[in-house]
Amino acid sequence: MTQSKKAPDKSHREVISLIELFEMFPDEKSGRHWFESIIWKGGRAVCHRCGGTNTYEVKNTKPLPHRCRDCRKHFSFRHRTILERSHIPLHKWAIAIYLVATNHKGVSSMKLHRDLDISQRHAWAMLHKIRQAMSGETGFFSETVEVEETRVGGIEKNKHQDNKLNTGRDGVGKSVVIGAKDRNYNKFAVQVVENKKRATLHGFIQEISKMAR
Ligand SMILES: [Zn+2]
Repeated sequence: MTQSKKAPDKSHREVISLIELFEMFPDEKSGRHWFESIIWKGGRAVCHRCGGTNTYEVKNTKPLPHRCRDCRKHFSFRHRTILERSHIPLHKWAIAIYLVATNHKGVSSMKLHRDLDISQRHAWAMLHKIRQAMSGETGFFSETVEVEETRVGGIEKNKHQDNKLNTGRDGVGKSVVIGAKDRNYNKFAVQVVENKKRATLHGFIQEISKMAR
């Protein structure tokens, strides 16, 4: 299988394929870990009641996967995010966010309904929330914004020979997804960027700073 990544045009964006995207998010857990890595620095769970990290992951992760030893209460990264009351599995959210972030012409609720095997009503609601979160139209960010970047995509050495990029650099073949978090409201936005060079990250930070109120 030949992929567009091998195209000679160097200016094209290195975006992961749909297959890779679905392999990245095979189940709810993979989606949850991805969101946690964006909301919590390094993915280390932080209790939203006391701000402490003396926490552990409980066996029965539904509905709240973490427990704070100090507060003795369960919690989740969803607290005060657009995902707080959603029953849609988290990997479907992650995939939907990626699709919206990478399709500049827009994603229809009909497409999400088919691709993610969810009702069109749910797909419409997800799109609405994702667009709101990404546009900042609801006063999404306040002044305290943290930016976190993470790499997504398949591991090069696990890829089929034809799909390898063979450039020897770490992180090659992956897109960089950066998320911005509002520390006060624990809300976030994500964006896929071409690379993690300072200019790219800086551009994103400036974009979201404009949304800050
Ligand atoms: Zn606590």
